[in-house]
Order: sequence, then structure tokens, then C-alpha cells
Amino acid sequence: MRKENRILSKIADKREEEMDARSIKGWVKKEIHKKGFNSACGIAVFLEVYNDLMPVQRRAVEKICGDDIDFLLKKGSVVSIAIFHTENAIKSINNTKDGKIDYERWNIYAEEYNTINNALNEICTKLASVLDGVALKATLELGKEVHSVEEYYSKAKISHRVVAEHAGIGARGKSELIVTKQNGSAVRFASFITPKDLDRDEKVGDLCGDCTACLDSCGILKKKEELQNYRQQCMKKINALNLRHDVCGICVKACYESGNWRKHSKHNA
Ligand code: SF4
Ligand code: SF4
Repeated sequence: MRKENRILSKIADKREEEMDARSIKGWVKKEIHKKGFNSACGIAVFLEVYNDLMPVQRRAVEKICGDDIDFLLKKGSVVSIAIFHTENAIKSINNTKDGKIDYERWNIYAEEYNTINNALNEICTKLASVLDGVALKATLELGKEVHSVEEYYSKAKISHRVVAEHAGIGARGKSELIVTKQNGSAVRFASFITPKDLDRDEKVGDLCGDCTACLDSCGILKKKEELQNYRQQCMKKINALNLRHDVCGICVKACYESGNWRKHSKHNA
């Protein structure tokens, strides 16, 4: 079997046999905690995620899963791994100093974005040492690495947001990002496909209500229905900012600071 098609191969580690949804979540949270971040973890049904993917992403997932795709469609699960941005990083976005945009401070967010992506990638790769399956690493924002949105979708392989929605981590917000009850949309994801038939989590209902904080923070997002491809405009804005990593985050900050999710948050109830 080709290397990328080894999803059903047996891991010679007895721990895999003992891993259930609860212990997988516990393992993930512990690993992320060691890296100094707060996190969430949930389980989705592979078939439901697959059915919600764009055709280009389905083809990419089929390629990754190879001959195991039929088995996965019957029994497989997808683990959604989420790491939350810190308040310090979110507050660093889009401030002014001496009448000018403070890009150096904004880079605190850009750097944390990169650190979180690396942590996610490390943890989902490590998960493969205790659980049968394949790691799907964190995807990058639309930035210099991709030249068009279409190119992004084929590179992205899977929508971590679709996985996170089905795994009950959060709900799709008006910003098109996943909004969580714990940290708004200030969160990043990786996913892990496993042949294990795990207890799935329930989806989260709408957290936005009549809130428009993210739309009000960004002219591009506000006009997303009218624009032919608002994501392409977003990509241009990210590139123009020229931060150390390909991020903007203005809509993320707006959601974090004044989003309706806070009404649902245990910490703020
Ligand atoms: S990342 Fe920036 S440009 Fe893109 S939608 Fe959010 S605020 Fe707008
Ligand atoms: S800012 Fe408000 S409307 Fe936008 S995603 Fe967050 S909660 Fe939803």
C-alpha cells in the first residue's frame, strides 16, 4: 500500500485499541496544554464531512484515503483539533502608534498564528502514533503562497471549518469563520481522519444572532454577497499588509471583542 494510503494499517501500539472519543480528546488537550495554549477537540462523522466538502476538496481527500475511502465512508470519523489565540495576540491587531498603523505590534498576531499552526501540525502528526489514521495539517490563510482562491482550495485538501462545524467546536459565523463559545473566531484548526467509529459530537447552533461586528469591521466582508469573489479581495488585503505571516485578523478581533458569541460563553454568562 502506498505511504499516503496507510490509514487502515495497524499501529503496533496497544494504546490505539484503547483510544475512545473521550481519551482522544483528553490526549489532544493535554498535548496542547503542554504548548501553553487553550484548546478544544471534537469528533465528526467522516461521511457527513465528506458530503459537505467542495468537489475539489473531495477529490483531494479521496486521493489521500486511496483504497480506504469506502471503509471510511461507512465507519470513519474525523477528529477536529482547535487551538485558541491568546488575548494578547488578538489585541495586537490593527492599532495605531504616533498616528500610524503599528505593524510591528500587529506582527505579534502574525507570529502567534505561525506558532499555533506549527503546534497543530506537530500534534496531529503525533496523534498518528497513538491512533490509526492520517493527519491533515493546518491550512494557511489566503496569502502570498497562493495566487488565487481556486488554487487555495486544491491546496487546502479539506475544509477544517467543515470538520469543526460537524465536530461541534463552533458554528459558521457571518464572517464565514467558525465562531466558538470559548474564544469567538480567534481559533485555528487541524483535522485527523481515522477509521475508528467514534462517538460523535453534536453540532452547535447559530452564535451570531443579530450581531454584525465582523461585517462592520471590514468593507470587503460587508459586501461579500455583492462581490464576485470577496475571498480574492481578502487575499489582496492580506498581501498588502505584508506582515511576517499571511494574516489580517481585523474581523477576528472585531468578533473577539464584541461578537454575540460572548452571550453564549460560560465565562461571560
Ligand atoms: S481577514 Fe481582513 S480583509 Fe479578510 S475578511 Fe477579515 S477583515 Fe476583511
Ligand atoms: S462578529 Fe458577530 S456576526 Fe461576526 S462572526 Fe462573530 S458573532 Fe458572528
